[in-house]
Amino acid sequence: MTGTARTTVVLGHVVTPTASDPGGFLDIASGAVAHADGTILDVGGAQDVLSRHRGALVEDHGDRYLLPGFVDAHVHYPQIGMIASPGLELLDWLERFTFPAEARFADDDHADRVADFFTDQLVDNGVTTACVYATVHPGSADALFRHARAKNLRVITGKVCMDRGAPDHLLDTPSSAVEDSVALLEKWHGVGRLEYAITPRFAPTSSDAQLTALGELAASYPDVVVQTHLSENTAEIERVRTLFPGTRDYTDVYDRAGLVRRRAVFGHGVHLTDRELGRLAQAEASVAHCPTSNFFLGSGLFGVTRAQSVAGLRVGLGSDVGAGTSLSPLVTLGAAYQASRMLGAPLDVARLLRLATLGGAEALGVEDSVGSLEKGKDADLVVLDPSAASNSPVLRHRVECAETLEEILFATMVLGDERAVVRTIVAGE
Ligand SMILES: [Zn+2]
Repeated sequence: MTGTARTTVVLGHVVTPTASDPGGFLDIASGAVAHADGTILDVGGAQDVLSRHRGALVEDHGDRYLLPGFVDAHVHYPQIGMIASPGLELLDWLERFTFPAEARFADDDHADRVADFFTDQLVDNGVTTACVYATVHPGSADALFRHARAKNLRVITGKVCMDRGAPDHLLDTPSSAVEDSVALLEKWHGVGRLEYAITPRFAPTSSDAQLTALGELAASYPDVVVQTHLSENTAEIERVRTLFPGTRDYTDVYDRAGLVRRRAVFGHGVHLTDRELGRLAQAEASVAHCPTSNFFLGSGLFGVTRAQSVAGLRVGLGSDVGAGTSLSPLVTLGAAYQASRMLGAPLDVARLLRLATLGGAEALGVEDSVGSLEKGKDADLVVLDPSAASNSPVLRHRVECAETLEEILFATMVLGDERAVVRTIVAGE
């Protein structure tokens, strides 16, 4: 036992991916996770763990499932108030709904209220690690950091940088983008579980000069996350081609600026070519797969199997709220399954589970700390109960009729949502 906190042993049905078994997951029906001081000390059979931690507090969840806290690799907290706004497609949707909603974050009180609400929703959905976009206003990132810190969530976020292609009141400049980013980074990066992310919205809203300036910033912080959007929709790709003549492709626009590297997280990647996928994998960058958003805006289908098995790319799961239609990783996994089915390469339960947990952690470069229930990692746990009265009667009935764990987990991903999350343990609390 480390530190001064007493050890807690959480009992339940342990279900977790592990680094050593990429195609499967650990399944301990009568299992336990011991933790203290926010860190997992032990995972195994209940009797073994209890005998190794005599005198520990016991939190017994019976037959309920103990999963690692979910990882949302791509989400916009300022868009929670305009989720489910029906734009024509990405660029039209940004202009009509997103930019007006984001403009409200010039008001620090508004940012504070929404950041509080959003972080509560992360917890209710079982999300303990999230890579989040703020708005162009530094105060919006500040508000999210504050509330994530208070709730001890592992949040990676940054102020959005954009110096063109949006209303004037939402624009920064290459130099102010760097200055504001550095100030926030110096204030918050490494505080508790928080990290800063250098966040150009996407190439259509950043000049070459801004991308270059942010690439230079990234070079001086080589371990910091970079997040942006890439190859989401065909009209967007066409706009990038026009705005950046002489580049090979969309990925090359970021690459030339020095923004393609390890811990660079690219949202969507729906229409990437083989060259682009190969380049991202070679650089150890990653893609956040955002299937509900891709459906909602009609952007297309991202091929997880192609990206992972052909190119060897790291892929996480993103809700991409407000274009995405749910903060629940369960709902997003249901959509990921459907997208994979449409592409003729359906994902199985183990790969789906991994996308929302360890795969996301790998995509964000935090796999040493989160993503699975393993000794030494943060004590982030989700207690899942598809039989709880809060769920839909259809899900509960389906689970009653199920004969295998795989069936139950799969049904929970396709039919479940935040109501199946009965408790979220965030860094042991
Ligand atoms: Zn997005």
